[in-house]
Amino acid sequence: MQKLLLTFGALSIGFASFAQRTIIHCGTLIDGVKNTEMSEMSIVVEGRKITGVQKGYLAPSGTDKLVDLKSKTVMPGFTDMHVHLENETSKDQTKRFQQNQADVAYDAAKYAKTTLLAGFTSVRDLGGTGVNIALRNAINRGVAIGPRIYTSGKTIATTGGHGDPSNGLSERLSLDPNYLTGVVNGPDECRHAVRQRYKDGVDCIKITATGGVLSIAKSGKAPQFTEEEIRAVVETAKDYGYIVAAHAHGAEGIKRATRAGVTTIEHGTFLDDEGIELMKKYGTYLVATILAGKTVADSAKVPGYYHPLVVPKALETGPIIQATFAKAYKAGVKIVFGTDSGVSVHGYNAYEFQYMTEAGMPAMEAIKSATIVPAQIMGTDKELGTIENGKLADIIASEANPLQDIKTLRKITFVMKDGVIYKQ
Ligand SMILES: [Zn+2]
Repeated sequence: MQKLLLTFGALSIGFASFAQRTIIHCGTLIDGVKNTEMSEMSIVVEGRKITGVQKGYLAPSGTDKLVDLKSKTVMPGFTDMHVHLENETSKDQTKRFQQNQADVAYDAAKYAKTTLLAGFTSVRDLGGTGVNIALRNAINRGVAIGPRIYTSGKTIATTGGHGDPSNGLSERLSLDPNYLTGVVNGPDECRHAVRQRYKDGVDCIKITATGGVLSIAKSGKAPQFTEEEIRAVVETAKDYGYIVAAHAHGAEGIKRATRAGVTTIEHGTFLDDEGIELMKKYGTYLVATILAGKTVADSAKVPGYYHPLVVPKALETGPIIQATFAKAYKAGVKIVFGTDSGVSVHGYNAYEFQYMTEAGMPAMEAIKSATIVPAQIMGTDKELGTIENGKLADIIASEANPLQDIKTLRKITFVMKDGVIYKQ
């Protein structure tokens, strides 16, 4: 039942209006539960929720709104477990010195909308300046359009590490980075930084366990936290109900983070056999971000696109990620979908599906890695991740059947989030 509220001066009268249902006719339905597709199905949506899923094309009655997707394939909305909504790849390296937070926010609002319209109804934003927290709140309040955001706020790094905001700056510009801006040393400061993020209102924690490709620093793979420090992050995060994501390219940093109990390893580029066994033992998920690897390798070939310290790292790291994904998947490491979009242009997230299937993952499994699996990891699987009675209505559709043509996921033609249609 939708509620209408009429206000006459101080007097408010609320009354129930007609029961508006939306009936979606699905030519093909992938519900995120079964391992097979279903044909000629109907989904009933009332308010924010799915209130029915049934065989055949249910005839609309009275005030029902009909959505005809008989020629499309309908799926649960996708989740990208690794994006950066505050920024987007650009040759212009001066942007971050010129933009104020308000400028960042307007850009971020645009990227959020683009991401939603590409079929990603949820994202985990793994690092920015804190605008990502305000953006989440604005979307939840309905004043900005975008996916559901689960954000880490500012990432946590060590001095000079990937994510130290003063890397590469002259002494004059160099702030004194600390737990507020996400730079810590020693277990006590690690705990302090996690508690600060709780105070900031984050949904999860992100650390940079090794060097990274795009930081103005020499090594893209050296470990940058001790295991004791990562353990302090993970244990403190647990007190607040947070899971920890660890950016890690190098083999040693991957192992330290895994043993210390992080939930996801981001990138995992130089993962070795010992690391694979550890990740399986601890049930750690790999968020491979193959798209980011391919993007940085391509951009590094454009003269002047990246800082000279970044170019060799991008050329070395980028091309390896897809092969690492293939090896890890084959060995039985748990996989969840993530792209690092922002490192690439926003809205192209679905290219990752193609790269995952090229590397040996069946299309249905790749789709589940972006629907039910993220919901399980983030503890939202009672409400999200599948098309089932009682769940929130996050529903998308592609032109063709992705089980036959995975590239069709790049062109999402219908997007509903929380029962509201954003694209049709
Ligand atoms: Zn990232």
